[in-house]
Amino acid sequence: MTTPIRSTCPYCGVGCGVLLTPQADGGLKVEGDPEHPANLGRLCSKGLALGDTVGLEGRLLTPQVDGTPASWDKALDLVADRFTSTIAEHGPDSVAFYVSGQLLTEDYYVANKLMKGFMGSANIDTNSRLCMASTVAGHKRAFGTDTVPGVYEDLEIADLVVLVGSNLAWCHPVLYQRLAAARAAHGTKVVVVDPRRTSSCDIADLHLKIAPGSDAALFNGLLTHLASSGEIDTDFVSKNVTGFDAALASARADDPSVTGVSDADLTRFYEMFAATDKVVTVFSQGINQSSSGTDKVNAIINCHLASGRIGLPGSGPFSVTGQPNAMGGRETGGLANMLAAHLDLENAEHREAVQTFWDAPTIPTEAGLKAVDLFDAVESGQIKALWIACTNPVVSMPDSDRVAQAIAACDFTVVSDLNAQTDTARLADVVLPALGWGEKSGTVTNSDRTISRQRSALKHPGQARADWDIFADVGRRMGWEAAFDYQSEADIFREHAQLSRIAGDFGKDFDISALSDLSDADYDAFAPQRWPISDTANGGRFFADGAFFTPTGRANMLPIASRAPEAKLDQQFPLRLNSGRARDQWHTMSRTGLSAKLCKHLAEPFLQIHPEDALACGVASADLALVTGRSGEAIFRVWVTDDVAKGAPFAPIHWTGETAAASVVARVIPAITDPVSGQPESKSAAVSVTKF
Ligand code: SF4
Repeated sequence: MTTPIRSTCPYCGVGCGVLLTPQADGGLKVEGDPEHPANLGRLCSKGLALGDTVGLEGRLLTPQVDGTPASWDKALDLVADRFTSTIAEHGPDSVAFYVSGQLLTEDYYVANKLMKGFMGSANIDTNSRLCMASTVAGHKRAFGTDTVPGVYEDLEIADLVVLVGSNLAWCHPVLYQRLAAARAAHGTKVVVVDPRRTSSCDIADLHLKIAPGSDAALFNGLLTHLASSGEIDTDFVSKNVTGFDAALASARADDPSVTGVSDADLTRFYEMFAATDKVVTVFSQGINQSSSGTDKVNAIINCHLASGRIGLPGSGPFSVTGQPNAMGGRETGGLANMLAAHLDLENAEHREAVQTFWDAPTIPTEAGLKAVDLFDAVESGQIKALWIACTNPVVSMPDSDRVAQAIAACDFTVVSDLNAQTDTARLADVVLPALGWGEKSGTVTNSDRTISRQRSALKHPGQARADWDIFADVGRRMGWEAAFDYQSEADIFREHAQLSRIAGDFGKDFDISALSDLSDADYDAFAPQRWPISDTANGGRFFADGAFFTPTGRANMLPIASRAPEAKLDQQFPLRLNSGRARDQWHTMSRTGLSAKLCKHLAEPFLQIHPEDALACGVASADLALVTGRSGEAIFRVWVTDDVAKGAPFAPIHWTGETAAASVVARVIPAITDPVSGQPESKSAAVSVTKF
């Protein structure tokens, strides 16, 4: 019998382990890995259908230059020449990479090193900017580093779990299964905070159907309640926290009635939180994708710091990431305002240490362009050479039609991807075939800091190559042979781990240098491991005893004044469109769209709309509706339901121009961002709805 190959699921940030058994017909049998700590054998519908998605339909199998098949040498020489000449003529900030939370850590590491250390710009950003950049910024403001304090087990130990802006049942299903099992076993209370009634409400004791964007006011009200009911942990705060008085003053000045939640339900929630020692607040895109996302994150963290509910078994604020390797990307510094290993780009000592480690000719002193600004710079002509890897911004970026026009007009665009005909690849000068899940090999880090292997189980199709290999080859062709002389992903992982020692030396959190000396065989056999690697005294949690990563060692509570969403409603655009995921689809469906059974769940792009809004807009269930925003329009099948609040319809993010004409929700999402994190406000577009 063939021994299954251990790997991880390529979808959400839960990071479930899978067992892969190649089949004689070229297919792949996929089962849950009972030994992986994230899922202990469980899988959700998407993970179970992975075997349906590994065919070669639509795959890009050879490099292409100007739409014509070309050799790797010709394509990569052209890429290296154009990036070299653009930098020589217009300076390093005239080039940019836009990458993806689906890249493996090794891919991210090489791309970030190439851009920041050698090309000399910090213009590398990622679709993770659309996912959890507000959490990164909130963590750094509160803790001094981008540190997730807790672990998955906390959801099972907690007596109260608060899901805020998180439809865990659909977006992180295995974590939801773990929570539901814990609830069945010992009665965990669950509160869902969401403008929509979602499947996560099936296990909720209380659903707070808050007004869109009012989360910070809700948590400011909680902080006020904790103070007035004597539930502040004064010992923890006096030893470990700064900013308590200012944060409480701001909270008291706020008005939780803007949430639209009844006083009785607000009081019930506040009393549940205050009366429960073990509380985990899980937050996700409903918090992050907001023009005040960072403030919302800090409003949540403030409550946990003030009540000492952090770093203890079953207690803490907990960000769940959308993508399989958003955390690995953060660890390598693969965002425009990060360095590497959770070091700070704005810190001269950190920059010098990383530059020395890389033996790099340069390192930028300022942050690069965040996603929305990056594509604005493409549009204005500042960015003249752009490399997009493993993502499809023409469908996923806000104001997506403008992004498409900008890419089409860019002097030189490279796309590396699995698929030949993505909406973005069609606009590129050079298209490079990359390995996909099941073929490529490397590591990912999930939402609770567990590093796991993805392993290759399938033949490499056509001429496809690993993303790290493509980036490294271009680095060598640009003249940096020694710096990019990697023979394998294991070489890169060892270097990544070695670099992280610098983080340890500077007192930062991400130090996995204990893994620097893994042999190739050790790397091949690497079992899932949560960091901090050498300090598991508190079950892998951070901050039980304080010891935050700020200069003072204390956490910062921030004064937060809640703000309404930026997109203003008016007579022309009277509705506030929410967007998000469907249970059985993933991103732009390039993989999940290949599975017939996944496509059965929700077969069409849909618009959930409240009955009163439907009446006012003249649409009924099964009609087609034209949704118009200030930046564009899109078409959806109408689904009248009071699961959504009046005035707040919902549409999924997955469908593209390929699968159903004009159903791209990103067309109507404005390019409004959080001023701290740069994350777009993807859940709050001002729109009108009419019958199509
Ligand atoms: Fe994959 Fe997430 Fe489902 Fe686990 S929960 S099988 S990681 S999609």
